[in-house]
Amino acid sequence: MSLLINKVPKVRGKLVSNADISSTSWFKVGGPIELLFIPEDLLDLTEFIENLSMEIPIFVIGALSNTLIRDGGVKGIGIKLDEKFSKIKINNDYIEVGASLLNMKFAKYAQKKQVYGYEFLSGIPGTIGGSIKMNAGCYGREMSDILHEVTIIDRINGLCNLSSKKLDMTYRNTKVSRDTIIISAKLKYYKDNIRSINKFNIKEERIKSQPINKLTGGSTFKNPKGYKAWKLIEDAGCRGLSLGGAKVSEMHTNFIINYKNATANDIEALGNIVRQKVYENSGIKLEWEILKIGFSNKGSIS
Ligand SMILES: Cc1cc2nc3c(=O)[nH]c(=O)nc-3n(C[C@H](O)[C@H](O)[C@H](O)COP(=O)(O)OP(=O)(O)OC[C@H]3O[C@@H](n4cnc5c(N)ncnc54)[C@H](O)[C@@H]3O)c2cc1C
Repeated sequence: MSLLINKVPKVRGKLVSNADISSTSWFKVGGPIELLFIPEDLLDLTEFIENLSMEIPIFVIGALSNTLIRDGGVKGIGIKLDEKFSKIKINNDYIEVGASLLNMKFAKYAQKKQVYGYEFLSGIPGTIGGSIKMNAGCYGREMSDILHEVTIIDRINGLCNLSSKKLDMTYRNTKVSRDTIIISAKLKYYKDNIRSINKFNIKEERIKSQPINKLTGGSTFKNPKGYKAWKLIEDAGCRGLSLGGAKVSEMHTNFIINYKNATANDIEALGNIVRQKVYENSGIKLEWEILKIGFSNKGSIS
């Protein structure tokens, strides 16, 4: 059987077969990516996508702070934008940020420049691109509040700009498809926001209430309308529940942590047990917020 690397266009960037990226994921689990592509620059990426057979699946890898890579690995091409796609450009109307920029770095930059409205990003690990796709948010603000426009590569239309309205951004969800690569974003200014960035130290708040220094993927489940997922999990008696090396955090029950060499399967199976227990206790079906990609070791796709 011919390797995927032999079926893709020539590039100037890096191509790695069977790439083990588990160590870069927040959970520190997961099997290999069939082919990893790290483009040299925008032109390299654009030409690659233009000349790639539509039959070969692609997906984008951010900081993997919201993704569980299953143990059997992922088929297709994982595209990783490196620091070359993390530039910040300030102009009169918007701040332009590269998609691979880490939220925390951007929040620090904004603080230094005394630009307000982006404080919430200091509490969300992950990249600008991943946060747009997930419409990430905390403390009452989310990506949709600050996003004006994205520059994307779409497999059909190529490089184009899209207004944020076209993304249908709702609670931890958008219309950004698996095939779409966000390259950069124009963010709005909050000129009328007088709140001081230093007034609210999100990181310190979080250390007190969330296991952010553990191996985790953040909130495991979305909050169902009118409910808090953590409370439903707590009420179902799942605090501290464990399976293999995975455990429901004692500190915050909507976080699953890899506390002892967990496999991705341990984490997913534990999450499914929690969902079942919550359903039996409350009649509410929790929806996963963490994305799961790839095959389980048994080779089944779920
Ligand atoms: C400790 C901890 C705390 C967290 N707290 C919060 C919180 O308060 N609020 C919140 O909303 N989330 C939270 N999260 C989840 C996570 O940080 C966010 O969802 C984050 O936005 C994901 O970004 P990422 O770069 O890690 O994306 P990844 O996990 O790498 O990817 C997520 C999705 O985005 C896609 N993607 C990534 N980059 C791009 C791109 N350039 N173009 C197109 N698609 C792309 C991926 O294909 C995937 O579908 C937390 C996570 C952790 C570990």
